[in-house]
Amino acid sequence: YPVSIAIDGPAGAGKSTVARMVAKRLNFLYVDTGAMYRTVAYLCIAHSVDATNSQAIIQMLNQHDVTFQMSDDGFKALVDDVDVSVQLRDPKVSAHVSTVAAHHEVRSRLTTWQRTFAKTQSVVMDGRDIGTVVLPDATIKIFLTADVEERARRRQREFCKNGHDVPLEEIIQAVAERDARDSSREIAPLKAAGDAIQIDSTGKSAERVVDEILSLVED
Ligand code: C5P
Repeated sequence: YPVSIAIDGPAGAGKSTVARMVAKRLNFLYVDTGAMYRTVAYLCIAHSVDATNSQAIIQMLNQHDVTFQMSDDGFKALVDDVDVSVQLRDPKVSAHVSTVAAHHEVRSRLTTWQRTFAKTQSVVMDGRDIGTVVLPDATIKIFLTADVEERARRRQREFCKNGHDVPLEEIIQAVAERDARDSSREIAPLKAAGDAIQIDSTGKSAERVVDEILSLVED
């Protein structure tokens, strides 16, 4: 049977960095489910589709060829054969994504897709509801957290790398708002699975968190 490692947690806890590194070390497929929700949000913005209208979103999804690919530089999203991965990091996409992710119809479509990745191969999958909904029988479940200020600092560094200078206060507010929306939605809210192992990454390097997770795998 393929092995699955589920990594959930709030925005900026370091999930994608750590998940990608764990996948590389174990030679598993890395699946970034946040990128999938971001792709839907990006499409809404690009095609002026109301993010609160689930029917319109589904109709839009039916009109485009959306695929995801794993490559050495991460998880790639292709829309009609065009790589939109860079656009997914746009703050506008981050601001819209939790609205899009609150729709049952959107979640069920993406959840089905996510499960197919894990059926045939061993995966490290990160998101908000992997251990609770997508892969309730995952081999290992991690709930990764960190102080909101540290999470915002990490985001700030990412923005800086992409040439955007955003004040920390602004990022703290955006991150906190997104977590609040993700935690309070009715379907598949952000929360730790009952059998998840909690890891706090505050003050820890990504390498150290990776080692902690790998030690759980070896047990
Ligand atoms: O992890 P990332 O910040 O890229 O996720 C973007 C957003 O996608 C989250 O804030 C959340 O609204 C949504 N999401 C979700 N369920 C997942 C992964 C992401 O609702 N499994």
